[in-house]
Amino acid sequence: MTVTPLALTRPASVTDAFLRRLVARVPGSSGATWKLTEVYTGDVLVELPQSTPADIEQAFTVARAAQERWAATPLKRRLEVFKRAHALFVDRARIVTDLIQVESGKNRRMAIEETCDPAMVMSHYLTRAAKLLAPVKRGGPVPFLTTSTEVRQPKGVVGIIAPWNFPFATGISDAVPALMAGNAVVLKPDNKTALSPLYGVEMLEEAGLPKGLFQVVCGEGPDVGPTLIDQANYVMFTGSTATGRVIGERAGRNLIGCCLELGGKNPMIVLDDADLDETVQGAIFGAFGNTGQICMHIERIYLPESRYDEFKNAYVAKTKALDVRAAYDFGPDMGSLVSTDHMGRVKAHVDDAVAKGATVLCGGKPRPDLGPAFFEPTILEGVTKDMLCGVTETFGPVVALHKYRTVDEAVAFANDTEYGLNASVWGGDVTAARAVASRIESGNVNINDILATAYAAKGTPSGGVKNSGVGARHGDQGLLKYTDVKNVAVLKKQVMGPRGGQTYEKYVEGMLSGLKLMRRLRIR
Ligand code: NAD
Repeated sequence: MTVTPLALTRPASVTDAFLRRLVARVPGSSGATWKLTEVYTGDVLVELPQSTPADIEQAFTVARAAQERWAATPLKRRLEVFKRAHALFVDRARIVTDLIQVESGKNRRMAIEETCDPAMVMSHYLTRAAKLLAPVKRGGPVPFLTTSTEVRQPKGVVGIIAPWNFPFATGISDAVPALMAGNAVVLKPDNKTALSPLYGVEMLEEAGLPKGLFQVVCGEGPDVGPTLIDQANYVMFTGSTATGRVIGERAGRNLIGCCLELGGKNPMIVLDDADLDETVQGAIFGAFGNTGQICMHIERIYLPESRYDEFKNAYVAKTKALDVRAAYDFGPDMGSLVSTDHMGRVKAHVDDAVAKGATVLCGGKPRPDLGPAFFEPTILEGVTKDMLCGVTETFGPVVALHKYRTVDEAVAFANDTEYGLNASVWGGDVTAARAVASRIESGNVNINDILATAYAAKGTPSGGVKNSGVGARHGDQGLLKYTDVKNVAVLKKQVMGPRGGQTYEKYVEGMLSGLKLMRRLRIR
């Protein structure tokens, strides 16, 4: 690992005045604030207001009033806001990157990639929203005399709870289809990473989104969550499986829908005909991209016995050569973890594995010389299911190598988990790799890629199975989930029930032959 000491200068766009302007929209009537820090240095950037339950209720009141006007605005005009926003988001990508970097500590390459996500989501739904939201006329129970029309209506105010690992993407991208569908949004970002989503809301308003429609409230999850869920008509949550259960329980009690995008313990299976260089490069990104803090990243790699040493040696060598450090330029391969607390959790997983017999092939230690929350990219061997990192998500730059003898065994190992978010299969024969993919219990499977191919395919729903989630983002359901269906049915002439002195016996005869006729007509 290259260690380059550097004098770190905060990005020029991140001025105190800019940060104060961003946080000024967060209600905080009690005066309580949270110190939002620059991850690389630990310096306080700004005091973030903390919203009280009364502040949150007021945010919903304002959002609800704005939502009524927004839902009455023709869809074409609503969508024009997002055409303008798309251009703004691309033009300001570097400023967003600066904010993401100061608040999350990730390297710049990942930060700029994150800025692309809301723009991609806007592009996709700009082409789909009109079709998805148009009323669909369907046949009624009696041909010619009845119709039924499926009418899509916004849910009302959508509560979004977002994590810190992709604060701009999860804060803004999930709001885009909700807003297009005519909803208002109240977002609760993580305290640590509220800046980039706040800037996203500012840009949306600059593009013409009505003021008040997109509210942001801040605070610790257990303080803000209950009021937010109790006020919302639908909840979109991204975060850990443990918190997802809490959110899902409360949404269930309130009889509102929710989408839960949760954690993973994602496997990578390397088949025996996989290309070595591409697979190793993939595994570098899979385990260490975003400092291992991607829900879809790889924590378990299954290698054929025959190629284990070859892969291991090349992977360890490439990992040791990674450029890990704090910098606001595109140089480093890997940046910091998000906080010293999270670094402690990652370290605990590695220490526990080592204490129970795992071997560290490289890395394994915090690097306070690089910054307060840096941790080395770490490869382990001999990880078993009695170790923390053998079963639960570590969510850091830590990956375990395992051998398999047969493909059946590899599939069984991959599926031996409570999670089911993402999997990655590598092989020269794509048909064989597809056959393996079909046997993996996971909401996403990428062949010859780690995650981007699936995640960037905005037309296909992406979500988790097992303990990795309920529902999905992207695809048609990524917008339709923010709507209720109203079934508007018309009967042109009353024909149901006996007519004009007809006996009930005759009416039933006619009804039953009608059923047979309708079935025959439909088959044709
Ligand atoms: P977390 O569950 O601790 O927090 C997520 C959000 O929920 C934060 O805003 C937090 O303040 C809030 N929160 C916490 N407790 C709450 C409560 N009781 N009520 C309401 N809100 C509450 O998760 P995290 O550590 O911030 O994020 C990392 C996790 O997110 C990882 O498990 C990762 O896999 C997952 N994640 C999943 C996806 C996905 O799409 N499946 C994407 C990104 C991250």
